[in-house]
Amino acid sequence: MGRPLLIRNARLADGRLASLIAEDGAIRDIGAELTPPEGAIVEDAAGHLLLPGFVEAHVHLDKTLMGLPFIPHIPGGSVAERIAAEKTLRRGLTIGVEERGGRLIEQLVAYGTVALRSHVDIDSEVGLKGLEAVLALRERYRDLIDIETVAFPQSGILRDPGTAGMLDAAMAAGADLVGGLDPAGIDGDVAGHLGIVFGLAEKHGKGIDIHLHDGGALGAFELRQIALRTLAAGLEGRVVVSHAFCLGELGHADFAATAGLLAKAEIAIMTTAPGPVPMPPVKRLMAAGVRVISGSDNIRDAWSPFGNGDLLERAGIVCDRQDFRDDADLELAFSLVTDAPSRVIGRGPAVVAVGAPADFVLVAASSVAETVAKRPTERTVFKRGRKVAAAGELIGWSDG
Ligand SMILES: [Zn+2]
Repeated sequence: MGRPLLIRNARLADGRLASLIAEDGAIRDIGAELTPPEGAIVEDAAGHLLLPGFVEAHVHLDKTLMGLPFIPHIPGGSVAERIAAEKTLRRGLTIGVEERGGRLIEQLVAYGTVALRSHVDIDSEVGLKGLEAVLALRERYRDLIDIETVAFPQSGILRDPGTAGMLDAAMAAGADLVGGLDPAGIDGDVAGHLGIVFGLAEKHGKGIDIHLHDGGALGAFELRQIALRTLAAGLEGRVVVSHAFCLGELGHADFAATAGLLAKAEIAIMTTAPGPVPMPPVKRLMAAGVRVISGSDNIRDAWSPFGNGDLLERAGIVCDRQDFRDDADLELAFSLVTDAPSRVIGRGPAVVAVGAPADFVLVAASSVAETVAKRPTERTVFKRGRKVAAAGELIGWSDG
């Protein structure tokens, strides 16, 4: 498992300076003065803050255009227009998912991300090719980051014949979760779409992560249907709905009824804190007992020319959109990209504590709130007790 690690002069979240020993991938000891184990690598943290590694709840490794010259964004605002634009663009790409996705993974690791969930397109054009490439990336980068995959029907299930069978094959091929997309808005059949998604989840014993852009009362109806099916299938705690913009535009009674069902079904809501559309109200949802997590979603792809995968930037965007200002609010935003998604994807709490995975980040800041406010670029990233990135560069890694 490699040499033990001793970090000295690290600042803990409570402000204390401490030493930490990591061995066999886990934190073994934290204390004021610790003796290095035999053969240990010793690091001086110089008073920098030691934080749990960041957890990316939602990306698309197969979609990114990283590694290609800048490609101007194709106009078109609706989900259907964007799906069509992406397909046109995808046919002409000169480099594959393994290279583009690999570049994105390396950037995410350098920013401090230690685990991610990637949706991967499954449709009648690409079949399982994207998934196979992302599974190969997972293997190639296994020492740097933990990767989960969602079989994602980006072109719909019913509207793209053959997709249901391909999703089944994707689950058999090793995808970790069943995806879905706007049962009403894209497939025009809520019961039909959800019947397939939940049927596959039950068949393969896996969780679900559904993209839901449908707004207003329609979106809320779909959320409640998802919650009812989750309860019926006994999938509590294993279902995520990504986006759920509708939660940001419901009246009091509708919101209370929908949030109540989401809480009962232990469904987590993933938000990117998007700019031009309503977003789920983070604190109101949490007050209703709904788990909220955040992620990057599209990073320099056919859906958006923007994004870099920096989860501290994402936490700051959440703060902007929710008007979070005080330290407690900034800490809450930080938890949306660390502890909350870590629990949702089944890694347990993201903490710097004895027994926890030795996946952490040192940043030039004095507190979690300052980290979210400043987004320090100076970060040192450790995965399973091994230094994997510093100053924005991967260490000891060649993708040959
Ligand atoms: Zn997405």
